[in-house]
Amino acid sequence: MSRFSPSVAKLISELAKLPGIGHTSAQRLAFHILSMPENEVKALSDSIMDARTSTKLCSICQNFTDTDPCPICSDPKRDHSTICVVENPREVATMERMRDYTGLYHVLHGVYSPLNNVSLEEIKIRELIARLREHPETKEVILATNQTPEGEATALYISRLVKPAGIKVTRIASGLPMGSNLEYADDVTLSKAIAARHEF
Ligand SMILES: [Zn+2]
Repeated sequence: MSRFSPSVAKLISELAKLPGIGHTSAQRLAFHILSMPENEVKALSDSIMDARTSTKLCSICQNFTDTDPCPICSDPKRDHSTICVVENPREVATMERMRDYTGLYHVLHGVYSPLNNVSLEEIKIRELIARLREHPETKEVILATNQTPEGEATALYISRLVKPAGIKVTRIASGLPMGSNLEYADDVTLSKAIAARHEF
């Protein structure tokens, strides 16, 4: 029999599904939540549900957004001729923090990874190709997938699809340590990696 009541055991098992949360952390969080005033617990659960229901994918860049198109895609001051392809929405946030980049994004929501059963159809490559067809103003596609074997394979695949359309394809410079994630790069390293991008 579980040491916890069914409702507490359920809360722990749901929390343990979150990334970076092991069973011990899930227990700690669950007991913290149980000790919180009821109105704070309600505010927390409402905010999770609100964020989930009001967030959709931008029909242009596939990033999470409340409005479609998202604020970046609908900003006339941004450079609409350049699209930076990233793996995850978190990486858009990282790039935006840097402030140097003024182009648009395309979020793949993953990378091609046969070992993890992620096929090319499951990531937003088809949407990127359709987008390039609909937006002939695109002059450059910057491939900023992570410098992991999966990120490299995905970049190579996209490059082969995009190049025949006469669009310049570049890859961020390997100023980032091999195997590293864009998300954890500091602003200076990331800024240099973008500035020193090379034709791919
Ligand atoms: Zn967008």
